[in-house]
Amino acid sequence: MDASLTPTARLKRRVDAWVVKLRVMPRVVRVQRLTRKWGSCSTAGTVTLAIDLDEERKAFQDFVIVHELLHLKVPNHGKLFKALMAAHIPRWREQDIYRRTGAKRTLPRDCPATQPRSRSS
Ligand SMILES: [Zn+2]
Repeated sequence: MDASLTPTARLKRRVDAWVVKLRVMPRVVRVQRLTRKWGSCSTAGTVTLAIDLDEERKAFQDFVIVHELLHLKVPNHGKLFKALMAAHIPRWREQDIYRRTGAKRTLPRDCPATQPRSRSS
């Protein structure tokens, strides 16, 4: 990991490498604070990643990045999507399990129901 870069720059650099590998072309790549998920992909081609993904292990970062970028080719989670996922991230199912348990783990911090009342938004 390159400590001279910001988390956003590090994540975008990782996305760039996968963009070349997967031959996809997102219109915009955004890195921002997401509380409920690790990433998203819009039909207009905007890929958004959670900024704290930078703190996760590399294998998990790749899993999330490849997942969102593949949605530029395949908009659903069908057979083709899973086949592409397996081709690029051979142990993606392990990461998928981690995604589910990891998301639960962050709930006490991020779940709106447990946030202090002082936040106005
Ligand atoms: Zn998806």
